[in-house]
Amino acid sequence: MEYEYLKKIKETINSCLPAETQITNVEMWGPEVAIYTKNPPSFFENENYVAKIAFELKKRVNIRADKSLLIEHDQAKEKILEIIPEDAGIKEIYFNDAFSEVVIEALKPGLVIGKGGETSKQISRDTGWTAMNIRAPTSDSEILKGIRHHLHKYSGERKKILQETANKIYGEKIDDNSWVRLTALGGFREVGRSCMLVETRSTKVMLDCGVNVANPDERFPYLDVLRFPVNEIDAIVISHAHLDHSGFLPYLFKLGYRGPVYCTLPTRDLMTLLQFDYIDVLVKERQEPPYSERDVKETLKHCITRDYREVTDIAPDMRLTLHNAAHILGSSSVHLHIGEGAHNLVYTGDFKFGFTRLFNNADVRYPRLETLIIESTYGARDDIQPQRQDAEDRLLRVINETVKQGGNVLIPVFSVGRAQEILLVIENFYRNGQLDAKVYVDGMTKEASAIHTAYPEYLRKGVQRRILQNDSPFTSDLFQVATWQDRDKIAEGEGSIIMASSGMLTGGPSVHYLHKLAEDSKNCLIFVGYQGEGSTGRKLQSGIKKLPITAENGRARELKINMRVETIEGFSGHSDRAQLVAYLRNLKPKPKRVLVDHGDKYKTLEFGKFISNKFKINTSVMRNLDALRLR
Ligand SMILES: [Zn+2]
Ligand SMILES: [Zn+2]
Repeated sequence: MEYEYLKKIKETINSCLPAETQITNVEMWGPEVAIYTKNPPSFFENENYVAKIAFELKKRVNIRADKSLLIEHDQAKEKILEIIPEDAGIKEIYFNDAFSEVVIEALKPGLVIGKGGETSKQISRDTGWTAMNIRAPTSDSEILKGIRHHLHKYSGERKKILQETANKIYGEKIDDNSWVRLTALGGFREVGRSCMLVETRSTKVMLDCGVNVANPDERFPYLDVLRFPVNEIDAIVISHAHLDHSGFLPYLFKLGYRGPVYCTLPTRDLMTLLQFDYIDVLVKERQEPPYSERDVKETLKHCITRDYREVTDIAPDMRLTLHNAAHILGSSSVHLHIGEGAHNLVYTGDFKFGFTRLFNNADVRYPRLETLIIESTYGARDDIQPQRQDAEDRLLRVINETVKQGGNVLIPVFSVGRAQEILLVIENFYRNGQLDAKVYVDGMTKEASAIHTAYPEYLRKGVQRRILQNDSPFTSDLFQVATWQDRDKIAEGEGSIIMASSGMLTGGPSVHYLHKLAEDSKNCLIFVGYQGEGSTGRKLQSGIKKLPITAENGRARELKINMRVETIEGFSGHSDRAQLVAYLRNLKPKPKRVLVDHGDKYKTLEFGKFISNKFKINTSVMRNLDALRLR
C-alpha cells in the first residue's frame, strides 16, 4: 500500500522536473526526501532543480542514482581512490547500500568534495554512488570509530526506521490545535535530570531526558507518572550531550521506545560517549546501571541529526528547529512550532550568552515565540561571574603558586565542555610563556576532544582554522594523556596540572586523584565548573575539612582535606545573572510567558520574580510534576 502523502510528493516532483531527469523512485527518509534518477548528471547541470523541489516540498532533498547505475564496491573504491587527490588524507571508504551512498572519511573532506563539488560529482558519474563526506578526527577516537561503524552496520535498519518515522509524521493530517500542554518531569527547581513533555491532542514530544549524577536520591526524571506506554511518544529532542539532559535516554529504549531522537551531529556522538561512561562509572562503583550498552547502541540507531536553523517536521502538527546555544559542542536551544501558528515554544537548554573561546554567540532571534523556558543555573542576584580575563589571570596565579612550592594542581572537569575550554586557556598560557608545568589529561577528555576535531564547523573561527590546519589545540603535545596505571605516579610527583573527569568529583579519575592529593597542603584543588547540590565537589567548595571515603582496601576511612581549595568563576558554560538578563533583553520576539527551570530552588524562584517585575512578562517557576496549559 502506498501512502497518500508519498503519492502527492511524487506528483509534485514530477511536475517540477523535466522528463530528462528520468526519476525512477521517491522515498522518504524521516523528514527528508530521496529521489532516485537514471540521469544524475542532469541534476549537476541544473543545480536549481534540487533547490526548486526543496522549496516546493519544504524538505531536505537527496539525489541518488538508480540502483542499476551502481557499480561493484571493489571497482567503485578503486575508481574513487583514483579520483580523490592523495593529500585528502583518506581514512576509510565504505558503502551504505540501503542509502546508495559511499561514506568517505578523510582528514580534508574539502578535497573530497572539490571546487564547486566537482570531485563528488565525478565520483557519482563514474561509480553511481553518492559520496557522503565525513571528517576524520585529528587524533584517533575509539568511540567515534565505534559510532560510525555501528551506523554503517545498521544502515539497512536505519532506513526502515526513517521510513516508519516519515509515515508517522506525514501519514495523517491533523487540524485540531485546540490545546498545548507542558508537563515538568525533571530539572525544575533543581539542576539535573532535565525532562519535559509537550503534548497536543495528537502528539507527544519529550524534550531532554537526563539523570542527576550529584544526588542519588533524586536521580531519574518522573517517567513513572506517564499514564501511557513510552512507545506512544512521537519524538524526543535532546538539547545537548551532558548527562543531566541525555543520561536517561537509553532507558526509554530499554522500556521499548523505538521512535526518533532529534539532535545535532556532535550531540549524538558526545552523548553516546557520556552514556557509555555513565555505565562504566556506575559499574566501577558497584552500582546497578539503569540500562546497558545495548540500549545505548539501540538509541544511536534512532538518532536523526539536524543542523542549526534547519526546520524539520517531527509530527503532523509540530516543526522543530535547533539553534546555537554556545554551551558545549553541538548544544542547542529548541524551537517548536506547534500547529499552523497555534503556539511557538523555545526551550533554551543550557546556554552561554557571553564570550567563550570555543563557540560563536548564542542565537537570540526566532521567527515566532510565545513561551520561553529558560535555564537559571546562575540566576540569583549575586551570581555575577568575573570578567573572563580576570578569571584567566587568577587561574594562572593559583597554578603557578602551587607549582612553585612543589605541589600538584587538580582541576576536576566535565569531560565535555569545560575540559576543552580550559585546555584552550592553558595552551594559551604556554604559548605566551607564562606557565611551565606538566599537564595531564585523564578520563574521557581525550575522546571528547577528538570528537571536537571531527566537527570544527561548530567551533569559533580561530579554533576551527587551527583544526583544519591540523594544529588542533586539543591534541597538542603539551597535554599528556594519563591512564589508570600512571595515576599514582603522577600524584606522587610534583609540579603537575591534572585535569580529570568527573567535574563534580562524583566518580571517575578525579576522585582517585583527590584521595591521593587531599592530605598534602602543598596541593591545590581548583573548581572551574558548576558543582551540583549534594555532590562531593559542592561539599568541598563549602569548606568541609573531612570527607568519609572508601579506601582502596575497601574499608571506610576519613580523608583530611588539607589541600588548598579554590573556586574560579568565569569559565562557566552557563550564563551568569547579567548574561541571562542580557539574553532576555536581546531575545526577539519577546515571549508572552516565561518558565524558569534548571537552577537551585531559591535561584529559580528569585530569578522568576525578577523577570516578572523587570520585564512585566507572565513568569512561572514550575515544580517537577506540575503541568501547565500553554494554549
Ligand atoms: Zn549542560
Ligand atoms: Zn544542564
